[in-house]
Amino acid sequence: MDDERAGNSQYHFIDHLIMGLPRKLGSILSQLWTGHALLAKHLHCIGINNSPICPACLQGEESVQHFLLHCPAHHRARQMLCNNTGGRNIDITKLLTSPKTLCTLFRYVAKTGHFHSTFGEIPTLKKTQQREGEQGDRR
Ligand SMILES: [Zn+2]
Repeated sequence: MDDERAGNSQYHFIDHLIMGLPRKLGSILSQLWTGHALLAKHLHCIGINNSPICPACLQGEESVQHFLLHCPAHHRARQMLCNNTGGRNIDITKLLTSPKTLCTLFRYVAKTGHFHSTFGEIPTLKKTQQREGEQGDRR
């Protein structure tokens, strides 16, 4: 079963990244990466929600992209995200796969409060907890 994905190094990489995280954060990252997050669009797809529209802003489907990059309801949290990831044009793949920006990503998620009902408090990620991300980072 894993053979199908073996050719895709990005999947392999993200699996590694997720395994190196505290469990709660690993689950959140995994959901955001696969698109199977508890966001209206996915919940609508699997028949839980009546509508895919974002309940926070009512301005579009609540996809992972919408939640992370576009939802005006999370504008403030996103400013912090932009400030810490180097600009307005956030590359979503980089955001989800770069060990350097994961701390910021989880802070964003915590600030939006979006996953609190499922996960409770979102812990902050300390650099020391990013086991997989430390390799290229010599001090
Ligand atoms: Zn929205």
